Amino acid sequence: MSSERLLIRNGFVVSMDAEVGNVPYGDVLVEDGTIAEIGRGLDVSEAEDVDATGMIVMPGFVDTHRHTWQTPVRGVLPCCTLDHYFAVMLGSVGGHYRPEDVHVGNYAGALEALNGGVTTLLDWSHINNTPDHSDAAIQGLKDAGIRAVYAHGVPTGGEWWAFSDLEHPEDIRRIRDTYFSSDDGLITLALAARAPGNSNFEVAKHDWELARELGIRISVHVGMRLTNVHVTHVKNMHELGLLGPDTTYIHCTDSTDEELDLIAETGGTASVAPYVEMLMGHGPPPTGKLIARGVRPSLSVDVVSSVPGEMFTQMRTALVHERIGAFTATPDEPFSPALSHREVLEFATIEGARACALEDKVGSLAPGKQADIVLLNVQAINTSPMVDPVGTIVVFADTSNVDSVFVAGRAVKRNGEFVGHDLNRVFERLEESRNHILSGGGLLPEWAAGPMAAV
Ligand SMILES: [Zn+2]
Repeated sequence: MSSERLLIRNGFVVSMDAEVGNVPYGDVLVEDGTIAEIGRGLDVSEAEDVDATGMIVMPGFVDTHRHTWQTPVRGVLPCCTLDHYFAVMLGSVGGHYRPEDVHVGNYAGALEALNGGVTTLLDWSHINNTPDHSDAAIQGLKDAGIRAVYAHGVPTGGEWWAFSDLEHPEDIRRIRDTYFSSDDGLITLALAARAPGNSNFEVAKHDWELARELGIRISVHVGMRLTNVHVTHVKNMHELGLLGPDTTYIHCTDSTDEELDLIAETGGTASVAPYVEMLMGHGPPPTGKLIARGVRPSLSVDVVSSVPGEMFTQMRTALVHERIGAFTATPDEPFSPALSHREVLEFATIEGARACALEDKVGSLAPGKQADIVLLNVQAINTSPMVDPVGTIVVFADTSNVDSVFVAGRAVKRNGEFVGHDLNRVFERLEESRNHILSGGGLLPEWAAGPMAAV
């Protein structure tokens, strides 16, 4: 069988790999979905030509935590607190989801991610109200063609979240057997766990044992501040003997210094979602506190009910929040922030890959890695002229610059357009789901209930 070859030619390669570095006017040769070679003026015949003149060639972003199922109710809580979010989204809205709503949520949400250059998405899925909901979530990711970690969580509903005595659903065993008998696919499995405090301690022990028996990673929310809630999730986990390098800790915003030390000492990874943490009052993003302990965080979008679904916003929010944290009480000391734009790009790419245990496959461009590649058209009014390509990505670029996206060498977006998806049909399905879900929860605006022609 002849190999499928792709030559991405004459772009500015920002590899995020220490050996490859930046390659101006560089080429990337892809063979059968894997990066074969990166260099200048590669002499290659019989390859599909992708002209990257005027573009940055970079690894796809990795979003380490997104509740993709919320896409059909995007924007329903544009400006809420975490207390309000829990009451509305998990206490009410989630209960109105049908499997088809989860499918279109994950399908459209994954397309949104790809459109913004996110090629790997950890889908933190706590909408498993029935096994059909789980099947629909996985199918939605598959249909979009994204690389994903499907993190299977509990059903929606408040009874699952406050010292709950309900164990993680056993259906995850069926899902492991049905979809994830190999760990080499484009989609892999993780357990979206509740911290002790969200569940009771016996349940937490059960859930951690379940994940480890299945041989899958664990992703858990910790340290979010809620009114009148006093819990130390990580300390509880430590006392239960649960901490380990197979776990990613999301937020850690109100975690104590001792708890952050415990994460570092046990080799855990972290996911900071700076926009939502500042919007809803989870607490200040702990980016610098984690770095000080040697934990290089990844970044995540979290809830698309309140947050834009791309990584440019996350990078910029993480950067400026951390830098103003170096502000002192007196003008007699120079402002000395430590975090750089290059570091936040690492967080959004290679550190994200590490948090998903996919760093051997994605997160940077290097021979032998999967060809998860984004072309940013930087001959655009918001990015031209270019001086520092990493600065162009982190400070100036946005989704409008994402010209082409490849996942394992397969084009999912080319020349600014999706390949093989009927977006009008997607929009129809999203609106139908929005109307069903929000009218059930009494949240559908009057204007949206009318015929779509009026929209
Ligand atoms: Zn979350």
